[in-house]
Amino acid sequence: MSCIVRSNKPFLPAHLQIEPSNKCNLKCVMCPRNEHIFKEGNMKLEQFKKIINENKQLKQITLSGYGEPTINLALEDMIKYAKSKKINVEIITNGTLLNEEKVKSLLQTGLDRIYLSVDSAEPITYKKIRGVNFSLVKKAGELINEQKKALKRKKPFLVINCVVMKDNVNDLFKVVDFAKTMDASVNFKSLRSSEPGFF
Ligand code: SF4
Repeated sequence: MSCIVRSNKPFLPAHLQIEPSNKCNLKCVMCPRNEHIFKEGNMKLEQFKKIINENKQLKQITLSGYGEPTINLALEDMIKYAKSKKINVEIITNGTLLNEEKVKSLLQTGLDRIYLSVDSAEPITYKKIRGVNFSLVKKAGELINEQKKALKRKKPFLVINCVVMKDNVNDLFKVVDFAKTMDASVNFKSLRSSEPGFF
């Protein structure tokens, strides 16, 4: 016998994606930002806390969106606040603004996972896609691992985030090899057919 239980309680998500900033320091070829004009700004810490406080069911948040989260200087305080509420926190970053000081301060927050955007481990292809030198993101990965080692921490776990598109489709094994050198896992994501850079 089966039974259907109806509830009047609203469905509330256990996982939210929150955009700390919709500003970005890069202009990647496949970015949806290229298709839109919008007012740029950073989320205020109070606004972030309000979202967290109103969603007591949250188990996980991903800090990313149409911008680079590390541009928002309140990012570390946001992560600390979410962690104080026992929420699993991950960020998606292009990594190009990470220096030693910033990595240290991110690691102090208790952050659980960093997705580092690396679409190619070939410097020429990477630059064609992201517009900046591959050495910047490579350095970011190295700094994260150095600081984790120095602090004897397993977290934040490092994941290489790779957007598969026509420009990098022949480089994907090299991305996997690069991830191995960074002791990271790999997350491949394909573009939608409506997005720039699709095959
Ligand atoms: S780093 Fe991300 S948000 Fe910034 S331009 Fe590139 S794809 Fe867009």
